Amino acid sequence: MDRSLHRPCEHSSSHPRFDAPASQEEPIEIAPGVWWVGVRLLKDHFQCHTYFIANGSDGVLIDPGSPLTIDGTLAKLRRITDLNAIRWIVCHHSDPDICASLPRLSEVLQRPDVQVVTEWRAKALIRHYGHRFTYHLVEEHGWVLPLEGDRRLEFQLTPYLHFPGAMVSYDTSSHTLFSSDLFGGFVPDSGILESDDAAYILDNARPFHQHYMPSRELLSAGLARIRSRWPEIERIAPQHGHIVAGSIVDDVFRGLANIECGVFCLADADVDLKRLLVIAEARQRLTDALMHQSSPLGMVRAMATILESTGQASDCELAVDLPGDGWTTWTTWATSDGRPVRRLPNPDWHHICLLGDPAMVLALRGDGSSEPFDPDMQRMLREFAESMRPWVDHLLEDQRKDKEVAVLNTAALCDPLTGLANRRALEAEKLSGIYSLIELDLDHFKNVNDTFGHESGDRVLKQLAQVLNASVREQDHTYRLGGEEFLVLLPEADRETALLVAERIRLSVRQLNLEGDAPGGRITVSLGVSTKNATQPCNFSQLMEQADRALYAAKDSGRDRVCIADDVSVNCG
Ligand code: GH3
Ligand code: MG
Ligand code: MG
Repeated sequence: MDRSLHRPCEHSSSHPRFDAPASQEEPIEIAPGVWWVGVRLLKDHFQCHTYFIANGSDGVLIDPGSPLTIDGTLAKLRRITDLNAIRWIVCHHSDPDICASLPRLSEVLQRPDVQVVTEWRAKALIRHYGHRFTYHLVEEHGWVLPLEGDRRLEFQLTPYLHFPGAMVSYDTSSHTLFSSDLFGGFVPDSGILESDDAAYILDNARPFHQHYMPSRELLSAGLARIRSRWPEIERIAPQHGHIVAGSIVDDVFRGLANIECGVFCLADADVDLKRLLVIAEARQRLTDALMHQSSPLGMVRAMATILESTGQASDCELAVDLPGDGWTTWTTWATSDGRPVRRLPNPDWHHICLLGDPAMVLALRGDGSSEPFDPDMQRMLREFAESMRPWVDHLLEDQRKDKEVAVLNTAALCDPLTGLANRRALEAEKLSGIYSLIELDLDHFKNVNDTFGHESGDRVLKQLAQVLNASVREQDHTYRLGGEEFLVLLPEADRETALLVAERIRLSVRQLNLEGDAPGGRITVSLGVSTKNATQPCNFSQLMEQADRALYAAKDSGRDRVCIADDVSVNCG
């Protein structure tokens, strides 16, 4: 679009303009202590901006300019400062529109300790301009230029944007990003210094970056680094184009990251190059996802989104042959709890199979056409899947730990002698609706131990546990509460059912042949039953108390019998 007649923000009085009456001679303060001291080049789309940070005797001249502008810049500087206050000359890179003024500055600036602040690759070229200044190389000073007071100028390398050693800098006091070529643009000679029109800024940046920036990947990666390091940017002061107002900083960062530039543009004419770039970008995004996703499901979802954006696959699944569990597949169609499914991936999709331990399959759903998958894409995905191995190993490690925890949990909830669940397991039980409890205790069990010894006692306890398990339904639970006291929990069982089960237990215990382990080869058991139903809305511990009382009633009334909670003994043997 031809923007040459476009004049955004023309009516906005808050934006300084070049062509305000005195501004050809006047510096313009763009932030407290930060001055634009550039010179407008008439009828030129390539405006070059110079800035000055006034900071006592520690002033900073930023991207000083060329012989075309330097005398105008010096004139403006003299209006706001003694030239001896200039201590630093920041050169964000080595281009002549930044550095060709250095010989002139060598003549004008008298102070002996003035230094050029730059990076080593730029220094190698800047010295060829012929000047007298020494260098302050930022990489040797932690990428920071500390200034008098609390002020700091922080630097970030932006390699290949546009120069291999190019940098941007950030003034911590005014929150101004001095972006050098980044955020620059070819602008109509409009007289506007600052703009808050993001679309206009981006339209100007596009032709500027298209051929100078090497690639969109590098540009967007560089921008992301800058944004995350300095989230509080209040304005962007580029070396070309317009100053970006704080209100549109986010929009401009986002928009700039999507500009097709460099190799990407050249690729327009070269379908194959464009295809390879799409694959390279997908690989970059997949690698990023791998670093940020912590769950297999999250990773599969991220992969599906990335692959979809390449236009080559519309969905994907990841399957791993997990030791012990077999083929386990994570799919974007996850079950509601996000768990994987125990199956191989969809057989109709394209499979990228990786042998090894464990074996893995990355399955891709095609775009619906019968076209075979791009072999370069397949190769990239195969390599990427291989790079997922350490991540899968982590997954296996987590799975192993989960199993260990499960084993420990089982041990903690289980009585080792009888194999029955223990009191802790009972406490973890979540109960609702109607249910019954049978509490039971061996009669005169002490005699067993006293007469035949502890080992016989243990055998009797084990036999009792077997009787309990054999006497209850599948949905019932049996517990050893401690010593020779046991409990049966009968979900959905009413009083009559519970009484029947209790009686069945009592008779089965009586019929046990315990020759050599119990006096007379026989033992009996007393049982107490309680039931929760619609007319008995008590809670679990109240129900336990009732069963306990019923059990004591059974003991008191002669043992070897079942009593129910209302203290009416039934079926006394
Ligand atoms: P009652 O009919 O009143 O229940 O009499 P009892 O002898 O069964 O009850 P008492 O509480 O007097 O004795 C219980 C015995 O159970 C005492 C204890 O040594 C024994 N006992 C508890 N736990 C175990 C165990 O794990 N193994 C063995 N062998 N004996 C145990
Ligand atoms: Mg007992
Ligand atoms: Mg006892």
